[in-house]
Amino acid sequence: MRREHPDIIVPDLSKPAGSVIDAAGMVTCIACGRRLRIARADIVGLGYRCGACTAKAQIAELDRGEADVTANLTPSDQARLPRLLTGPQLILLGIGCLVLAVLLWIANVGVPVWRGIPAPVWALIAGSGSIAIGLTRIRGWKRRLVVPTE
Ligand SMILES: [Zn+2]
Repeated sequence: MRREHPDIIVPDLSKPAGSVIDAAGMVTCIACGRRLRIARADIVGLGYRCGACTAKAQIAELDRGEADVTANLTPSDQARLPRLLTGPQLILLGIGCLVLAVLLWIANVGVPVWRGIPAPVWALIAGSGSIAIGLTRIRGWKRRLVVPTE
């Protein structure tokens, strides 16, 4: 029997230009171009970054409300990643599940049961979870949790 398998994607494993360390142990920040000792540099996907640029990236992450976890990838690699549902899409999906739960509960005829739990309850759980995850993905939700230090 022949098994189907997903395509194997081999990433580009060549050394990025930003990862060069010179003879004196100095590297270049990929964000601002400043030269610094490798011992003081943060390692990022495509090379090294200085502490100031890492702090700026973390502040920008708080402002966006989501981590830019693909910032270290090349644009072509970013384009190959699957898109996640956005917050509003997840909330709509959750509302759809809740509507389905109500309709199944109203119908109440031949409602399927899986693992001892009726389908409307599963739809209720799925809808609530989807809405909760969707709310966390809405832009800026983390910023409201940060206590100002001034
Ligand atoms: Zn920098």
